[in-house]
Amino acid sequence: MKLDLRPLLRGEVSRMPVSFTFSFDDIDGVTINGDVKVFGEIVDNAGYMRMTLEISFNYTGECARCLDPVNGHFSTEFERTVVDEGTLTEEQLENNVDEYAVISNGFLDVDEQLAEEILYDFPRRLLCSEDCPGLCPKCGKKLGEGECGCEKHEPDPRWAVLREYSEKLKEEENN
Ligand SMILES: [Zn+2]
Ligand SMILES: [Zn+2]
Repeated sequence: MKLDLRPLLRGEVSRMPVSFTFSFDDIDGVTINGDVKVFGEIVDNAGYMRMTLEISFNYTGECARCLDPVNGHFSTEFERTVVDEGTLTEEQLENNVDEYAVISNGFLDVDEQLAEEILYDFPRRLLCSEDCPGLCPKCGKKLGEGECGCEKHEPDPRWAVLREYSEKLKEEENN
């Protein structure tokens, strides 16, 4: 979306509402249901322009442990200082890529930055629930649906150390 900021640059308004939607399907293994919604404003405070947006959408993904579908709502804040082209040097912009959005010919194209923000903020791993027990590593059965009957996996080596320690204590008590 190219936002027309000319009224803001001409000083006709000091605040511009922003509201638009776009389609996006670049998150691996995740389907975005409907469009991505972008909502917020750009405020000009005596030449200092600040853009504050909220990005939100509904999605369907997959639990990283049990592979069940996971439906959720995602939203994240997106804030940038808006500068007209030529205001900052190439170097200043490169050193602060996450800080600025640059106006070109009176328009601000935010698509690329919004896409980057989504990919950066979206959770790497989705879970159907915080304590999803996942699948049995032997037979592949969903452990959330009950025991599968397979032999229990190797005990955690950290417990083995604790057990040794407590046995040693007991021996010392007996001596
Ligand atoms: Zn799960
Ligand atoms: Zn099993």
